[in-house]
Amino acid sequence: MADCIFCKIANKEADAKFIFEDETVIAIRDLSPKAPEHILIIPKKHIGSINDFTDSDKDLMAHIMVDVIPKIANDLKIDKSGFRVVINTGEDGGQTVNHLHIHLLGGRSLTWPPG
Ligand code: 5GP
Ligand code: ZN
Repeated sequence: MADCIFCKIANKEADAKFIFEDETVIAIRDLSPKAPEHILIIPKKHIGSINDFTDSDKDLMAHIMVDVIPKIANDLKIDKSGFRVVINTGEDGGQTVNHLHIHLLGGRSLTWPPG
């Protein structure tokens, strides 16, 4: 989608620190990290938010949850210490980039509830 920063990063039209890529997903370091490890897992396909999921996204999201997140957590060695997975959605959810992304945060003890 034009003027979408995460589409541009996925298409290599904008820079980012990639830590993972396959046919359907990229994972990059967040520009403004909120934890020692702060990764954004982003479908290459433009999906605005959870509100825009269709049945055709089920395999993609299962792939992210079952394959990609555990692999990255393992690679970053935060699988045993623990981590948090967050999808901010919409205005009250604090979503600022309208291309679905999953935050993976770890490397320190995270407080709950978030603000
Ligand atoms: P949201 O607030 O939408 O859940 O999260 C958007 C995240 O994307 C923020 O944590 C922000 O720091 C990050 N971000 C925004 N623009 C860029 C960018 O151009 N590159 C990278 N790597 N992260 C970005
Ligand atoms: Zn996009």
